[in-house]
Formats: sequence, C-alpha cells, structure tokens
Amino acid sequence: MNNYSPLITQAPVAQRTAVYLDHHATTPVDPRVAEVAVRMMVEEFGNANGVENVHGEHAASAVAEAKDKVARLLQAEPDDVHFTSGSTEAIQLAISHSIATHRSPLKIAVSRVEHKAVIDTALRAERLGLAAVAWIEVDDKARIDRSSYERILQNGIDLVCVMAANNEVGTIYPVEEIVRNAREHGVDVLIDATQAVGRMQLNLDELSAAYVVLSGHKIYGPKGIGALISPIFERASVFGLQGAHHPTPNVSGIAALGYACELMHVEGEAESRRLSHLRDLLQERLARLVPGLVVNGDEAARLPHNLHVSAPGALNEIVLGRLRGKVSISTGSACNTGAQEPSHVLRAMRLPDSRIESCLRIGLGRTTTASDIELAAIQIAQAINDVRTDLSGDIDV
Ligand code: PLP
Repeated sequence: MNNYSPLITQAPVAQRTAVYLDHHATTPVDPRVAEVAVRMMVEEFGNANGVENVHGEHAASAVAEAKDKVARLLQAEPDDVHFTSGSTEAIQLAISHSIATHRSPLKIAVSRVEHKAVIDTALRAERLGLAAVAWIEVDDKARIDRSSYERILQNGIDLVCVMAANNEVGTIYPVEEIVRNAREHGVDVLIDATQAVGRMQLNLDELSAAYVVLSGHKIYGPKGIGALISPIFERASVFGLQGAHHPTPNVSGIAALGYACELMHVEGEAESRRLSHLRDLLQERLARLVPGLVVNGDEAARLPHNLHVSAPGALNEIVLGRLRGKVSISTGSACNTGAQEPSHVLRAMRLPDSRIESCLRIGLGRTTTASDIELAAIQIAQAINDVRTDLSGDIDV
C-alpha cells in the first residue's frame, strides 16, 4: 500500500491492530483502486470538460471508460451513468429531478427503513411544500409489508423510494417485483443500491427503475464519488440551480469508482460466498458464547457480509466502549454527529427496547480473514458478557 508515495504513512497503532468489521459504514480503498486514483491524479490531470487538447481528451476518455465499467456491473447503459459526490447527492438529485418533472407537490412513498439520506430529503421536500410523503411499512424482519405497499400504489403516488438492501440489518428487498408493481401503476422508482452493489444480482436492463444510486466508499473505492444511474435524469431539469454549469469532473475519483465496479463485477460473487461463510461462522460462534443472542433482519435474504445482533441486557454504547481499539463495529444508527439515537430501522420493525438498545452491526469485508472472525467472536462475546455482568440487577437478561 505504501510503495506509490512516501506521503502515505501508516495508520496509528490502535487503528492498525483493531479488527475492522464496520464495512457497512465504509470500506477501505482497495490498494489496486488507490493505485488507479493516484495514477489518474498525476498523469491524467486534464480537464475532461475541455477536450480542445490531448490532455482534456485523455481525461474525457477516462470518464467514458469509467461509465462503461459502472454500467457493466449493473447491466445499465453507459449514457445513463451520472457521477455524483456519493449516494446522498445522487438521492437528492433524483428526488429534486422527480419534483421538477412531476406535478407539485410530488407524492413520494418511502419505506420506513430507508437510509436517512432518503428520509431526510423527502421530509425536507415536504416541509418546503414540494412533496407529500407516504410511508411503506415493514415487518419484524424489515421486509416490505406488501399490503401497505399495494395500498399506497392504489391510492396514487409519483415516486417510490426503496433500497435494494438495508444498511443496518442487511435485509435484501425483491426490487424486481417492487419495480414491476410500481411500473404497472405508471410509478417511478428510486432504488438505493448503496449497500447492495456487487453483493447481489442487480440487472438494470431488466429492472427499468427510474433512478438507482451507488457510492464509491461502500465498494472499496474512494469517498466523495458515486453515481446516479438513470435513463430519465437530466441535470438541466433538476429543481434548483444545480444544472446551470457542469463542474470539472473528478477524473481520478471517477476512474477509481469505475475500477472499483470492475473489481466487484469480476470478484463480487466469489467474495460474497467467502464472506457469507465467514459471517455464518461468526454468527455460530457468537450464538454459542452469548446466551440469548438474537439475530435481527431476514436470515433468508440478507447481505452476505452482514450480521446484526442484539444481546438484551448489554447496552450497545458500553459494549462498543469495551471493544474500542480491539474490534471496530457499530450500532449502524449513529447520525452525522456520531450521536447515538435509537435506530429508526429497528423501531420500524417494532423490536422491543431491550433489542434496540443492545443492537450491534457487524460488517465483514475484503480483508476479513477467518482468524479475524475467531478473534472478534471472542472479544465481542467477552465485551457483551462483561457488560451484562456489570449491569446485572438493573436489567432482566
Ligand atoms: N444509502 C445507504 C443505504 C447508505 O448506507 C449510505 C451510507 O451509509 C448512504 C445512502 C449515503 O451514502 P454516501 O455516504 O455516499 O452519501
């Protein structure tokens, strides 16, 4: 990792020695992707908007090549790929575009377990009088409640927002069916594929979703780069002033995202098999070591690298404190400020407080090894059991 630049120094010791199992929050940049990013920064520094010279031309062709790679992963059309700073911006652009191209206020249906990037954008549009939000309910495994969804479609809606897979409990959604039902009612769908890309089958050629979003830093690419994939999106018709001028493309980020997608395309399936095996191993170890451990989400349709558990009686904030510097995991529901709030996803699933307060999200990734899993199982179980002992008397376990 260090051989391309003396400027890249080692991470602090605590960070290097802790086992990283928070890959839903973000993934490390794959060294192969970092190499592409650095090379593009140094060599392909031309302005991709200005193709009046050979430098600009090369940069523009690197952008075009990256569009091909993103499109190939999802069987989409390269022309439908629009680069953004990540999923949040892609979501905001998609919803703004939908507002601009529908009668106002936009009738927008949002599943209760969407990421805050979707929920907050929809609620802000509602506060501004630009949208009216309807909520799609979920069951106790975070699966879409079919009758709630059907009712919303019957009542008339313009845009449905559903994720391909949940970023907390990992539940995978039947997006083909969701989009098909919506299309039967002439309704557009925004699919947040941020966590799902490269980890489950997503064929946009067959899906005909109006908008799909993804983010580089969830697939071993850099932060600050993502894409909105949409056959109908045009920057110029976005509500607001965002379409007035095309910013200079972030060619190195774009090329790195393209390469990250290519790696996912080539390696994703085998890697998903490897990770689901390790995840099952971790689940089995934890279940054995922690009495009363419960798995949250849909075990029958779950992201391969996701394990979301509750250990009633062990408050998660305290458990995370005990694991600090040893194993990096999270609750999955911390907001932008890092403050802990009860997970809106687990609330929507109507889980009891004891499960919400003790939930832990574990996300495996490309560098996770079997020995990481053995070590993490012991450390996590010990932290939970110690916290329970310390708190016993206060709470029924
Ligand atoms: N959607 C989901 C499901 C996510 O998990 C995230 C990031 O956590 C986002 C959207 C926001 O992505 P970004 O950080 O690229 O803005």
